[in-house]
Amino acid sequence: MMSGLEWETANAHETEQQGASLATSLNPGDVVLVRGELGAGKTTFIRGACRALGVTEPITSPTFTIGRIYQGGETAVAHLDLYRLGSLASEDPALLEDYLVADRISFVEWPPEGDEVALLPAHGDLRTVSIEPLPDGRRRMVIE
Ligand code: ADP
Ligand code: MG
Repeated sequence: MMSGLEWETANAHETEQQGASLATSLNPGDVVLVRGELGAGKTTFIRGACRALGVTEPITSPTFTIGRIYQGGETAVAHLDLYRLGSLASEDPALLEDYLVADRISFVEWPPEGDEVALLPAHGDLRTVSIEPLPDGRRRMVIE
């Protein structure tokens, strides 16, 4: 279980376990922003969370769309990757409203920063996980 606001993982499996641990505290409508550089382990973390939520299909970063919807156990799951999206202020709000809905649990890689976070459709709690690779291959994670 997550014991605090900050923890370290030694490998991808442990990162998946942390995702699974967070998933147990999520409710429909909640949105989890997952920050970190390319290869930090964002998709790995989300994969673990999705498995814990009953998703059985492959979990990879969405590439040709900004998001994918997975069938979960009780709750459907949205998985977005906004890497290619520019400023949210210049996007049609409907773009994200299609994904971030009240009856899903949502995960967002490359989420907006600063004031633009407020432009995300909000139906539940907003959580942020930041993943930082350490020189020895471990990952430090902070949850807000
Ligand atoms: P991102 O989505 O942030 O670009 P991925 O989750 O797709 O990153 O990839 C992370 C890569 O780093 C995977 O190949 C994974 O196996 C590897 N890796 C090594 N150590 C860890 C760790 N402690 N946590 C997460 N991933 C790790
Ligand atoms: Mg990714």
